[in-house]
Amino acid sequence: MLIGHFGVALGLKRLAPRTNLAWLAIASLFIDLLLWVLILGGVEKLIVPADLAHQHYFGFEFPYSHSLLSTLIYAVCFGILGALFAHHFSRIAAALILAFAVLSHWLLDFLVHPPQLPVAGESSTKVGLGLWNTLPIAHGVELAIFVIGLLVYYRSSRSRSKTGKYGPFILFTLIAATSLIGQAVSSGPIDATIVAASSLAMLVIVIILAGWFDTMRVHLSN
Ligand SMILES: [Zn+2]
Repeated sequence: MLIGHFGVALGLKRLAPRTNLAWLAIASLFIDLLLWVLILGGVEKLIVPADLAHQHYFGFEFPYSHSLLSTLIYAVCFGILGALFAHHFSRIAAALILAFAVLSHWLLDFLVHPPQLPVAGESSTKVGLGLWNTLPIAHGVELAIFVIGLLVYYRSSRSRSKTGKYGPFILFTLIAATSLIGQAVSSGPIDATIVAASSLAMLVIVIILAGWFDTMRVHLSN
């Protein structure tokens, strides 16, 4: 689940037209950004299964980034930041939108991950509905969230330049294609550190580009 998270950020632009898309994407992808940093720091763990070509998803030990309890805490922190820094619209709305963006990540991960997501700590109950075990359905759901988010984003804004017009579409379509095809054809052996470093670099680059393209669009206030 990568482009589904970007889909949420894109869709939320409708509710927060004057908040740069990069901030919404940082919120909706915060626990993944944290995950890759913690894996590189040796605090959390990515486990590459021997039958990755058949299974199509990794194993994780990620109690600090992806437990329900920690995600709720991050959501509250983002909500507080949103309320503190909101100047264009209601502090309560800013807090709710950013908190929802953070929490939406866990909810979407809950849908696709097998029971890997801890409720509180690594030894607590692990949950997940496991839609990744039926990859075409998981990808269909993710694609639908992404397409709806992108449509809402385009419908609630207009471009000021060609880069603003085509940039987001090209960027996110490329990310959608590479992430969905990448998961479908994944095969081992893969080094966990390389996965973490490349995933973190890709997220940072996409968020920066998305934020830059967003400045070239005029968002229509609701
Ligand atoms: Zn995640």
